[in-house]
Amino acid sequence: MKTVAFYTLGCKVNQYETEAMGELFQKSGYEIVDSESRSDVYVINTCTVTNLGDRKSRQFIRRSKKINPEAIIAVVGCYAQTSPDEVLSIEGVNIILGTNDRNKIVEYVENIQADHEKINAVEDIMQIKEFEEMTIGEIKGKTRAFLKIQEGCNQYCTYCIIPYARGPIRSRKLEDIIKEVERLAENQFKEVVLTGIHVASYGKDLKDTSLLDVIRGAHKIDGIERIRLSSIEPTVATEDFIQEISKLKKVCPHFHLSLQSGCNETLKRMNRKYTAEEYKEIVERLRRYMPDLSITTDVMVGFPGETDEEFDSTYNFVKEIGFSQIHVFKYSPRKGTPAAKYKNQVPSEIKNKRSEKLLQLAQESAIKYNERFIGRTKSVLFETSSDSLDGYFEGLTDNYIRVFCKAHEQVEGRLINVSLDELHGESMIGHLKDEA
Ligand code: SF4
Repeated sequence: MKTVAFYTLGCKVNQYETEAMGELFQKSGYEIVDSESRSDVYVINTCTVTNLGDRKSRQFIRRSKKINPEAIIAVVGCYAQTSPDEVLSIEGVNIILGTNDRNKIVEYVENIQADHEKINAVEDIMQIKEFEEMTIGEIKGKTRAFLKIQEGCNQYCTYCIIPYARGPIRSRKLEDIIKEVERLAENQFKEVVLTGIHVASYGKDLKDTSLLDVIRGAHKIDGIERIRLSSIEPTVATEDFIQEISKLKKVCPHFHLSLQSGCNETLKRMNRKYTAEEYKEIVERLRRYMPDLSITTDVMVGFPGETDEEFDSTYNFVKEIGFSQIHVFKYSPRKGTPAAKYKNQVPSEIKNKRSEKLLQLAQESAIKYNERFIGRTKSVLFETSSDSLDGYFEGLTDNYIRVFCKAHEQVEGRLINVSLDELHGESMIGHLKDEA
């Protein structure tokens, strides 16, 4: 049996696409092996959000070739899309595909076996207007599935390379999304996480279909118990939208609302489309409808021109909002984006200090949020046994608290009510009560 190994960098969309490519290879008779093992084919699904992503992609290409010098190496994804010449020049690369036509990957691999030429299948992504339909759902026994509903972004935040790597917005057809949700339910998945490059843009390129239609459609599918939105934009969370989704019981009280900065001047330079005041208003509105709501976010430090005062505004704003989780990023210039050319780039020592300060706040905020739930019962969707706590299993509550419980493997894939007893770092420890 021929073998294929995947190495995936970057976001949930990349993970989804790797999973979909994996199913295509399996259907063609390949066995998926670990990325450390000797394999006939290696697929590297790259990321280019930071320089680190590019570097890791290059390292992995070289490592795979070392493990098996005869292997076919296919490089796909955002780094291949934005820097095809650079990727093609790396020794050992046989195929490059960008962020479109991943459905043809097996075909390309089979062709190269026949003629040993290099294949460059990267297209001009700005010309792609259709969502590339890739599906998952054949794999059984998992609990939570990331479901891609949208591709591309038209926002052009000044620091971000993604619109150039993923192209314009393309929404997946509602009927295709619903079919996939049904398939996932048949295969015992209980939670779907609606994912995309810019989920908030869903439907803008379609007639008469909105994100709300997707959520309502998925809500009707028996077997799916939870629907999570991987991210929404402050601009999408209108009163009507929040009112509607707060009535849908399967929608998790957890939203990832990307903030990036709490300072209006910085937000403007970033070309973000909201002010700190508007953001706060939306958070308050969301909390009026969902009091236990978990709000997670991303914050960037060291954006060009960020003064101490601007950083302090962000810090104080983040503290005031009280997030349950914060991903802190240090700005790194990406060639081809406007911000890379801005004057007043912030030195790395300052970025490091600001990042440490915010990470400390992130930890305190997470603990403060979780403390509210000590002594309460929440349903937990158990995923797997814990690596760190012997005899414990772990899973997530609907409001995104990671919970550890002493249990046996029959809990995997089940929703069980758990009494939350104590904090465990930024997670919690609880004990099992009954089936949710
Ligand atoms: S919204 Fe901004 S940060 Fe997000 S993908 Fe689009 S351009 Fe990048």
